[in-house]
Amino acid sequence: MHPFSYTRAADTRGALDAGRRGGRYIAGGTTLVDLMRETVERPDTLVDISGLPLRDILVAKDGGLRIGALARMAETAAHPTVRAAFPVVAQALELSASAQLRNMATIGGNIMQRTRCTYFRDVSADCNKREPGSGCAARDGFNRMHAILGTSESCVATHPSDVAVAFAALEARVHVLGPDGARDIPFADFLLRPGSTPSREQALGKGELITAVEIPARPRPLRSGYLKVRDRQSYEFALTSAAVALHIRGGVIREAKVAAGGVGTVPWKLSAVEQALVGERPSDALWTAAAAHAADGARPLHHNRFKVALLKRTVERQLRVVGGSK
Ligand code: SF4
Repeated sequence: MHPFSYTRAADTRGALDAGRRGGRYIAGGTTLVDLMRETVERPDTLVDISGLPLRDILVAKDGGLRIGALARMAETAAHPTVRAAFPVVAQALELSASAQLRNMATIGGNIMQRTRCTYFRDVSADCNKREPGSGCAARDGFNRMHAILGTSESCVATHPSDVAVAFAALEARVHVLGPDGARDIPFADFLLRPGSTPSREQALGKGELITAVEIPARPRPLRSGYLKVRDRQSYEFALTSAAVALHIRGGVIREAKVAAGGVGTVPWKLSAVEQALVGERPSDALWTAAAAHAADGARPLHHNRFKVALLKRTVERQLRVVGGSK
């Protein structure tokens, strides 16, 4: 392991000062420590932020939710308002990782987690994300788990988070604090597609610290849920997944929020699916017709062509589960 120094931030100001000097924030450490052991990550300074007061889950009067960046995955999934108002978030969290990891890992860390591309984690392999300009071993390698949407010549890795898919669907906002003050970033802009710079993964400035993820209020009633398709039923990353939220009133779909995971270089908002749903009456035929758009623009690789059909079926099934069978 690369030698590093460790400092524990006593307050937010101290954390930001250390971050501005190049320190790397750590809280649950469930991803970063593994990557440091494998020398994929080699930070010189770790800034432990786990003692900062950023753990609260607050419910706004309008029904929105503000989840502190240091809230644990498990406690977020168990929160009564999360479960009642946004089950898609609770389900995405409960289908992630293992119970032990969910007790340690934080919401902020979860959305910052790095790809599970095996070549990224193998320091002997070419990887533009780990070593810019070195190439991409996955393009001509074994790419069954890789992305079919949002890829570039430089990188085809998927984003591994489940709850980020729910946040993308619900159009959450990421609140950050930095040397120049506080700002918030639409979730759709927070995680970056690889383009020609896959090593840059988030729209964060130097030293900026995530303070919370905000889910805006949604019209009630809102039915929602998360479906994850994977090679085994626990402790596995998604082949495909679908986060669906529907507001149905008077027998008509008034609002549809849909995103997919396991298929994109970032959580993939399915705007064409949403557009096909709004203003329509729920029916099995509608779910099939809307889901047919789920893989629009997909560019499968040699080993992951199956994801095109699997994604459509995943979205169709979850639309039926959330919207009902007719
Ligand atoms: Fe690296 Fe991305 Fe290629 Fe994987 S897909 S080897 S992360 S550049």
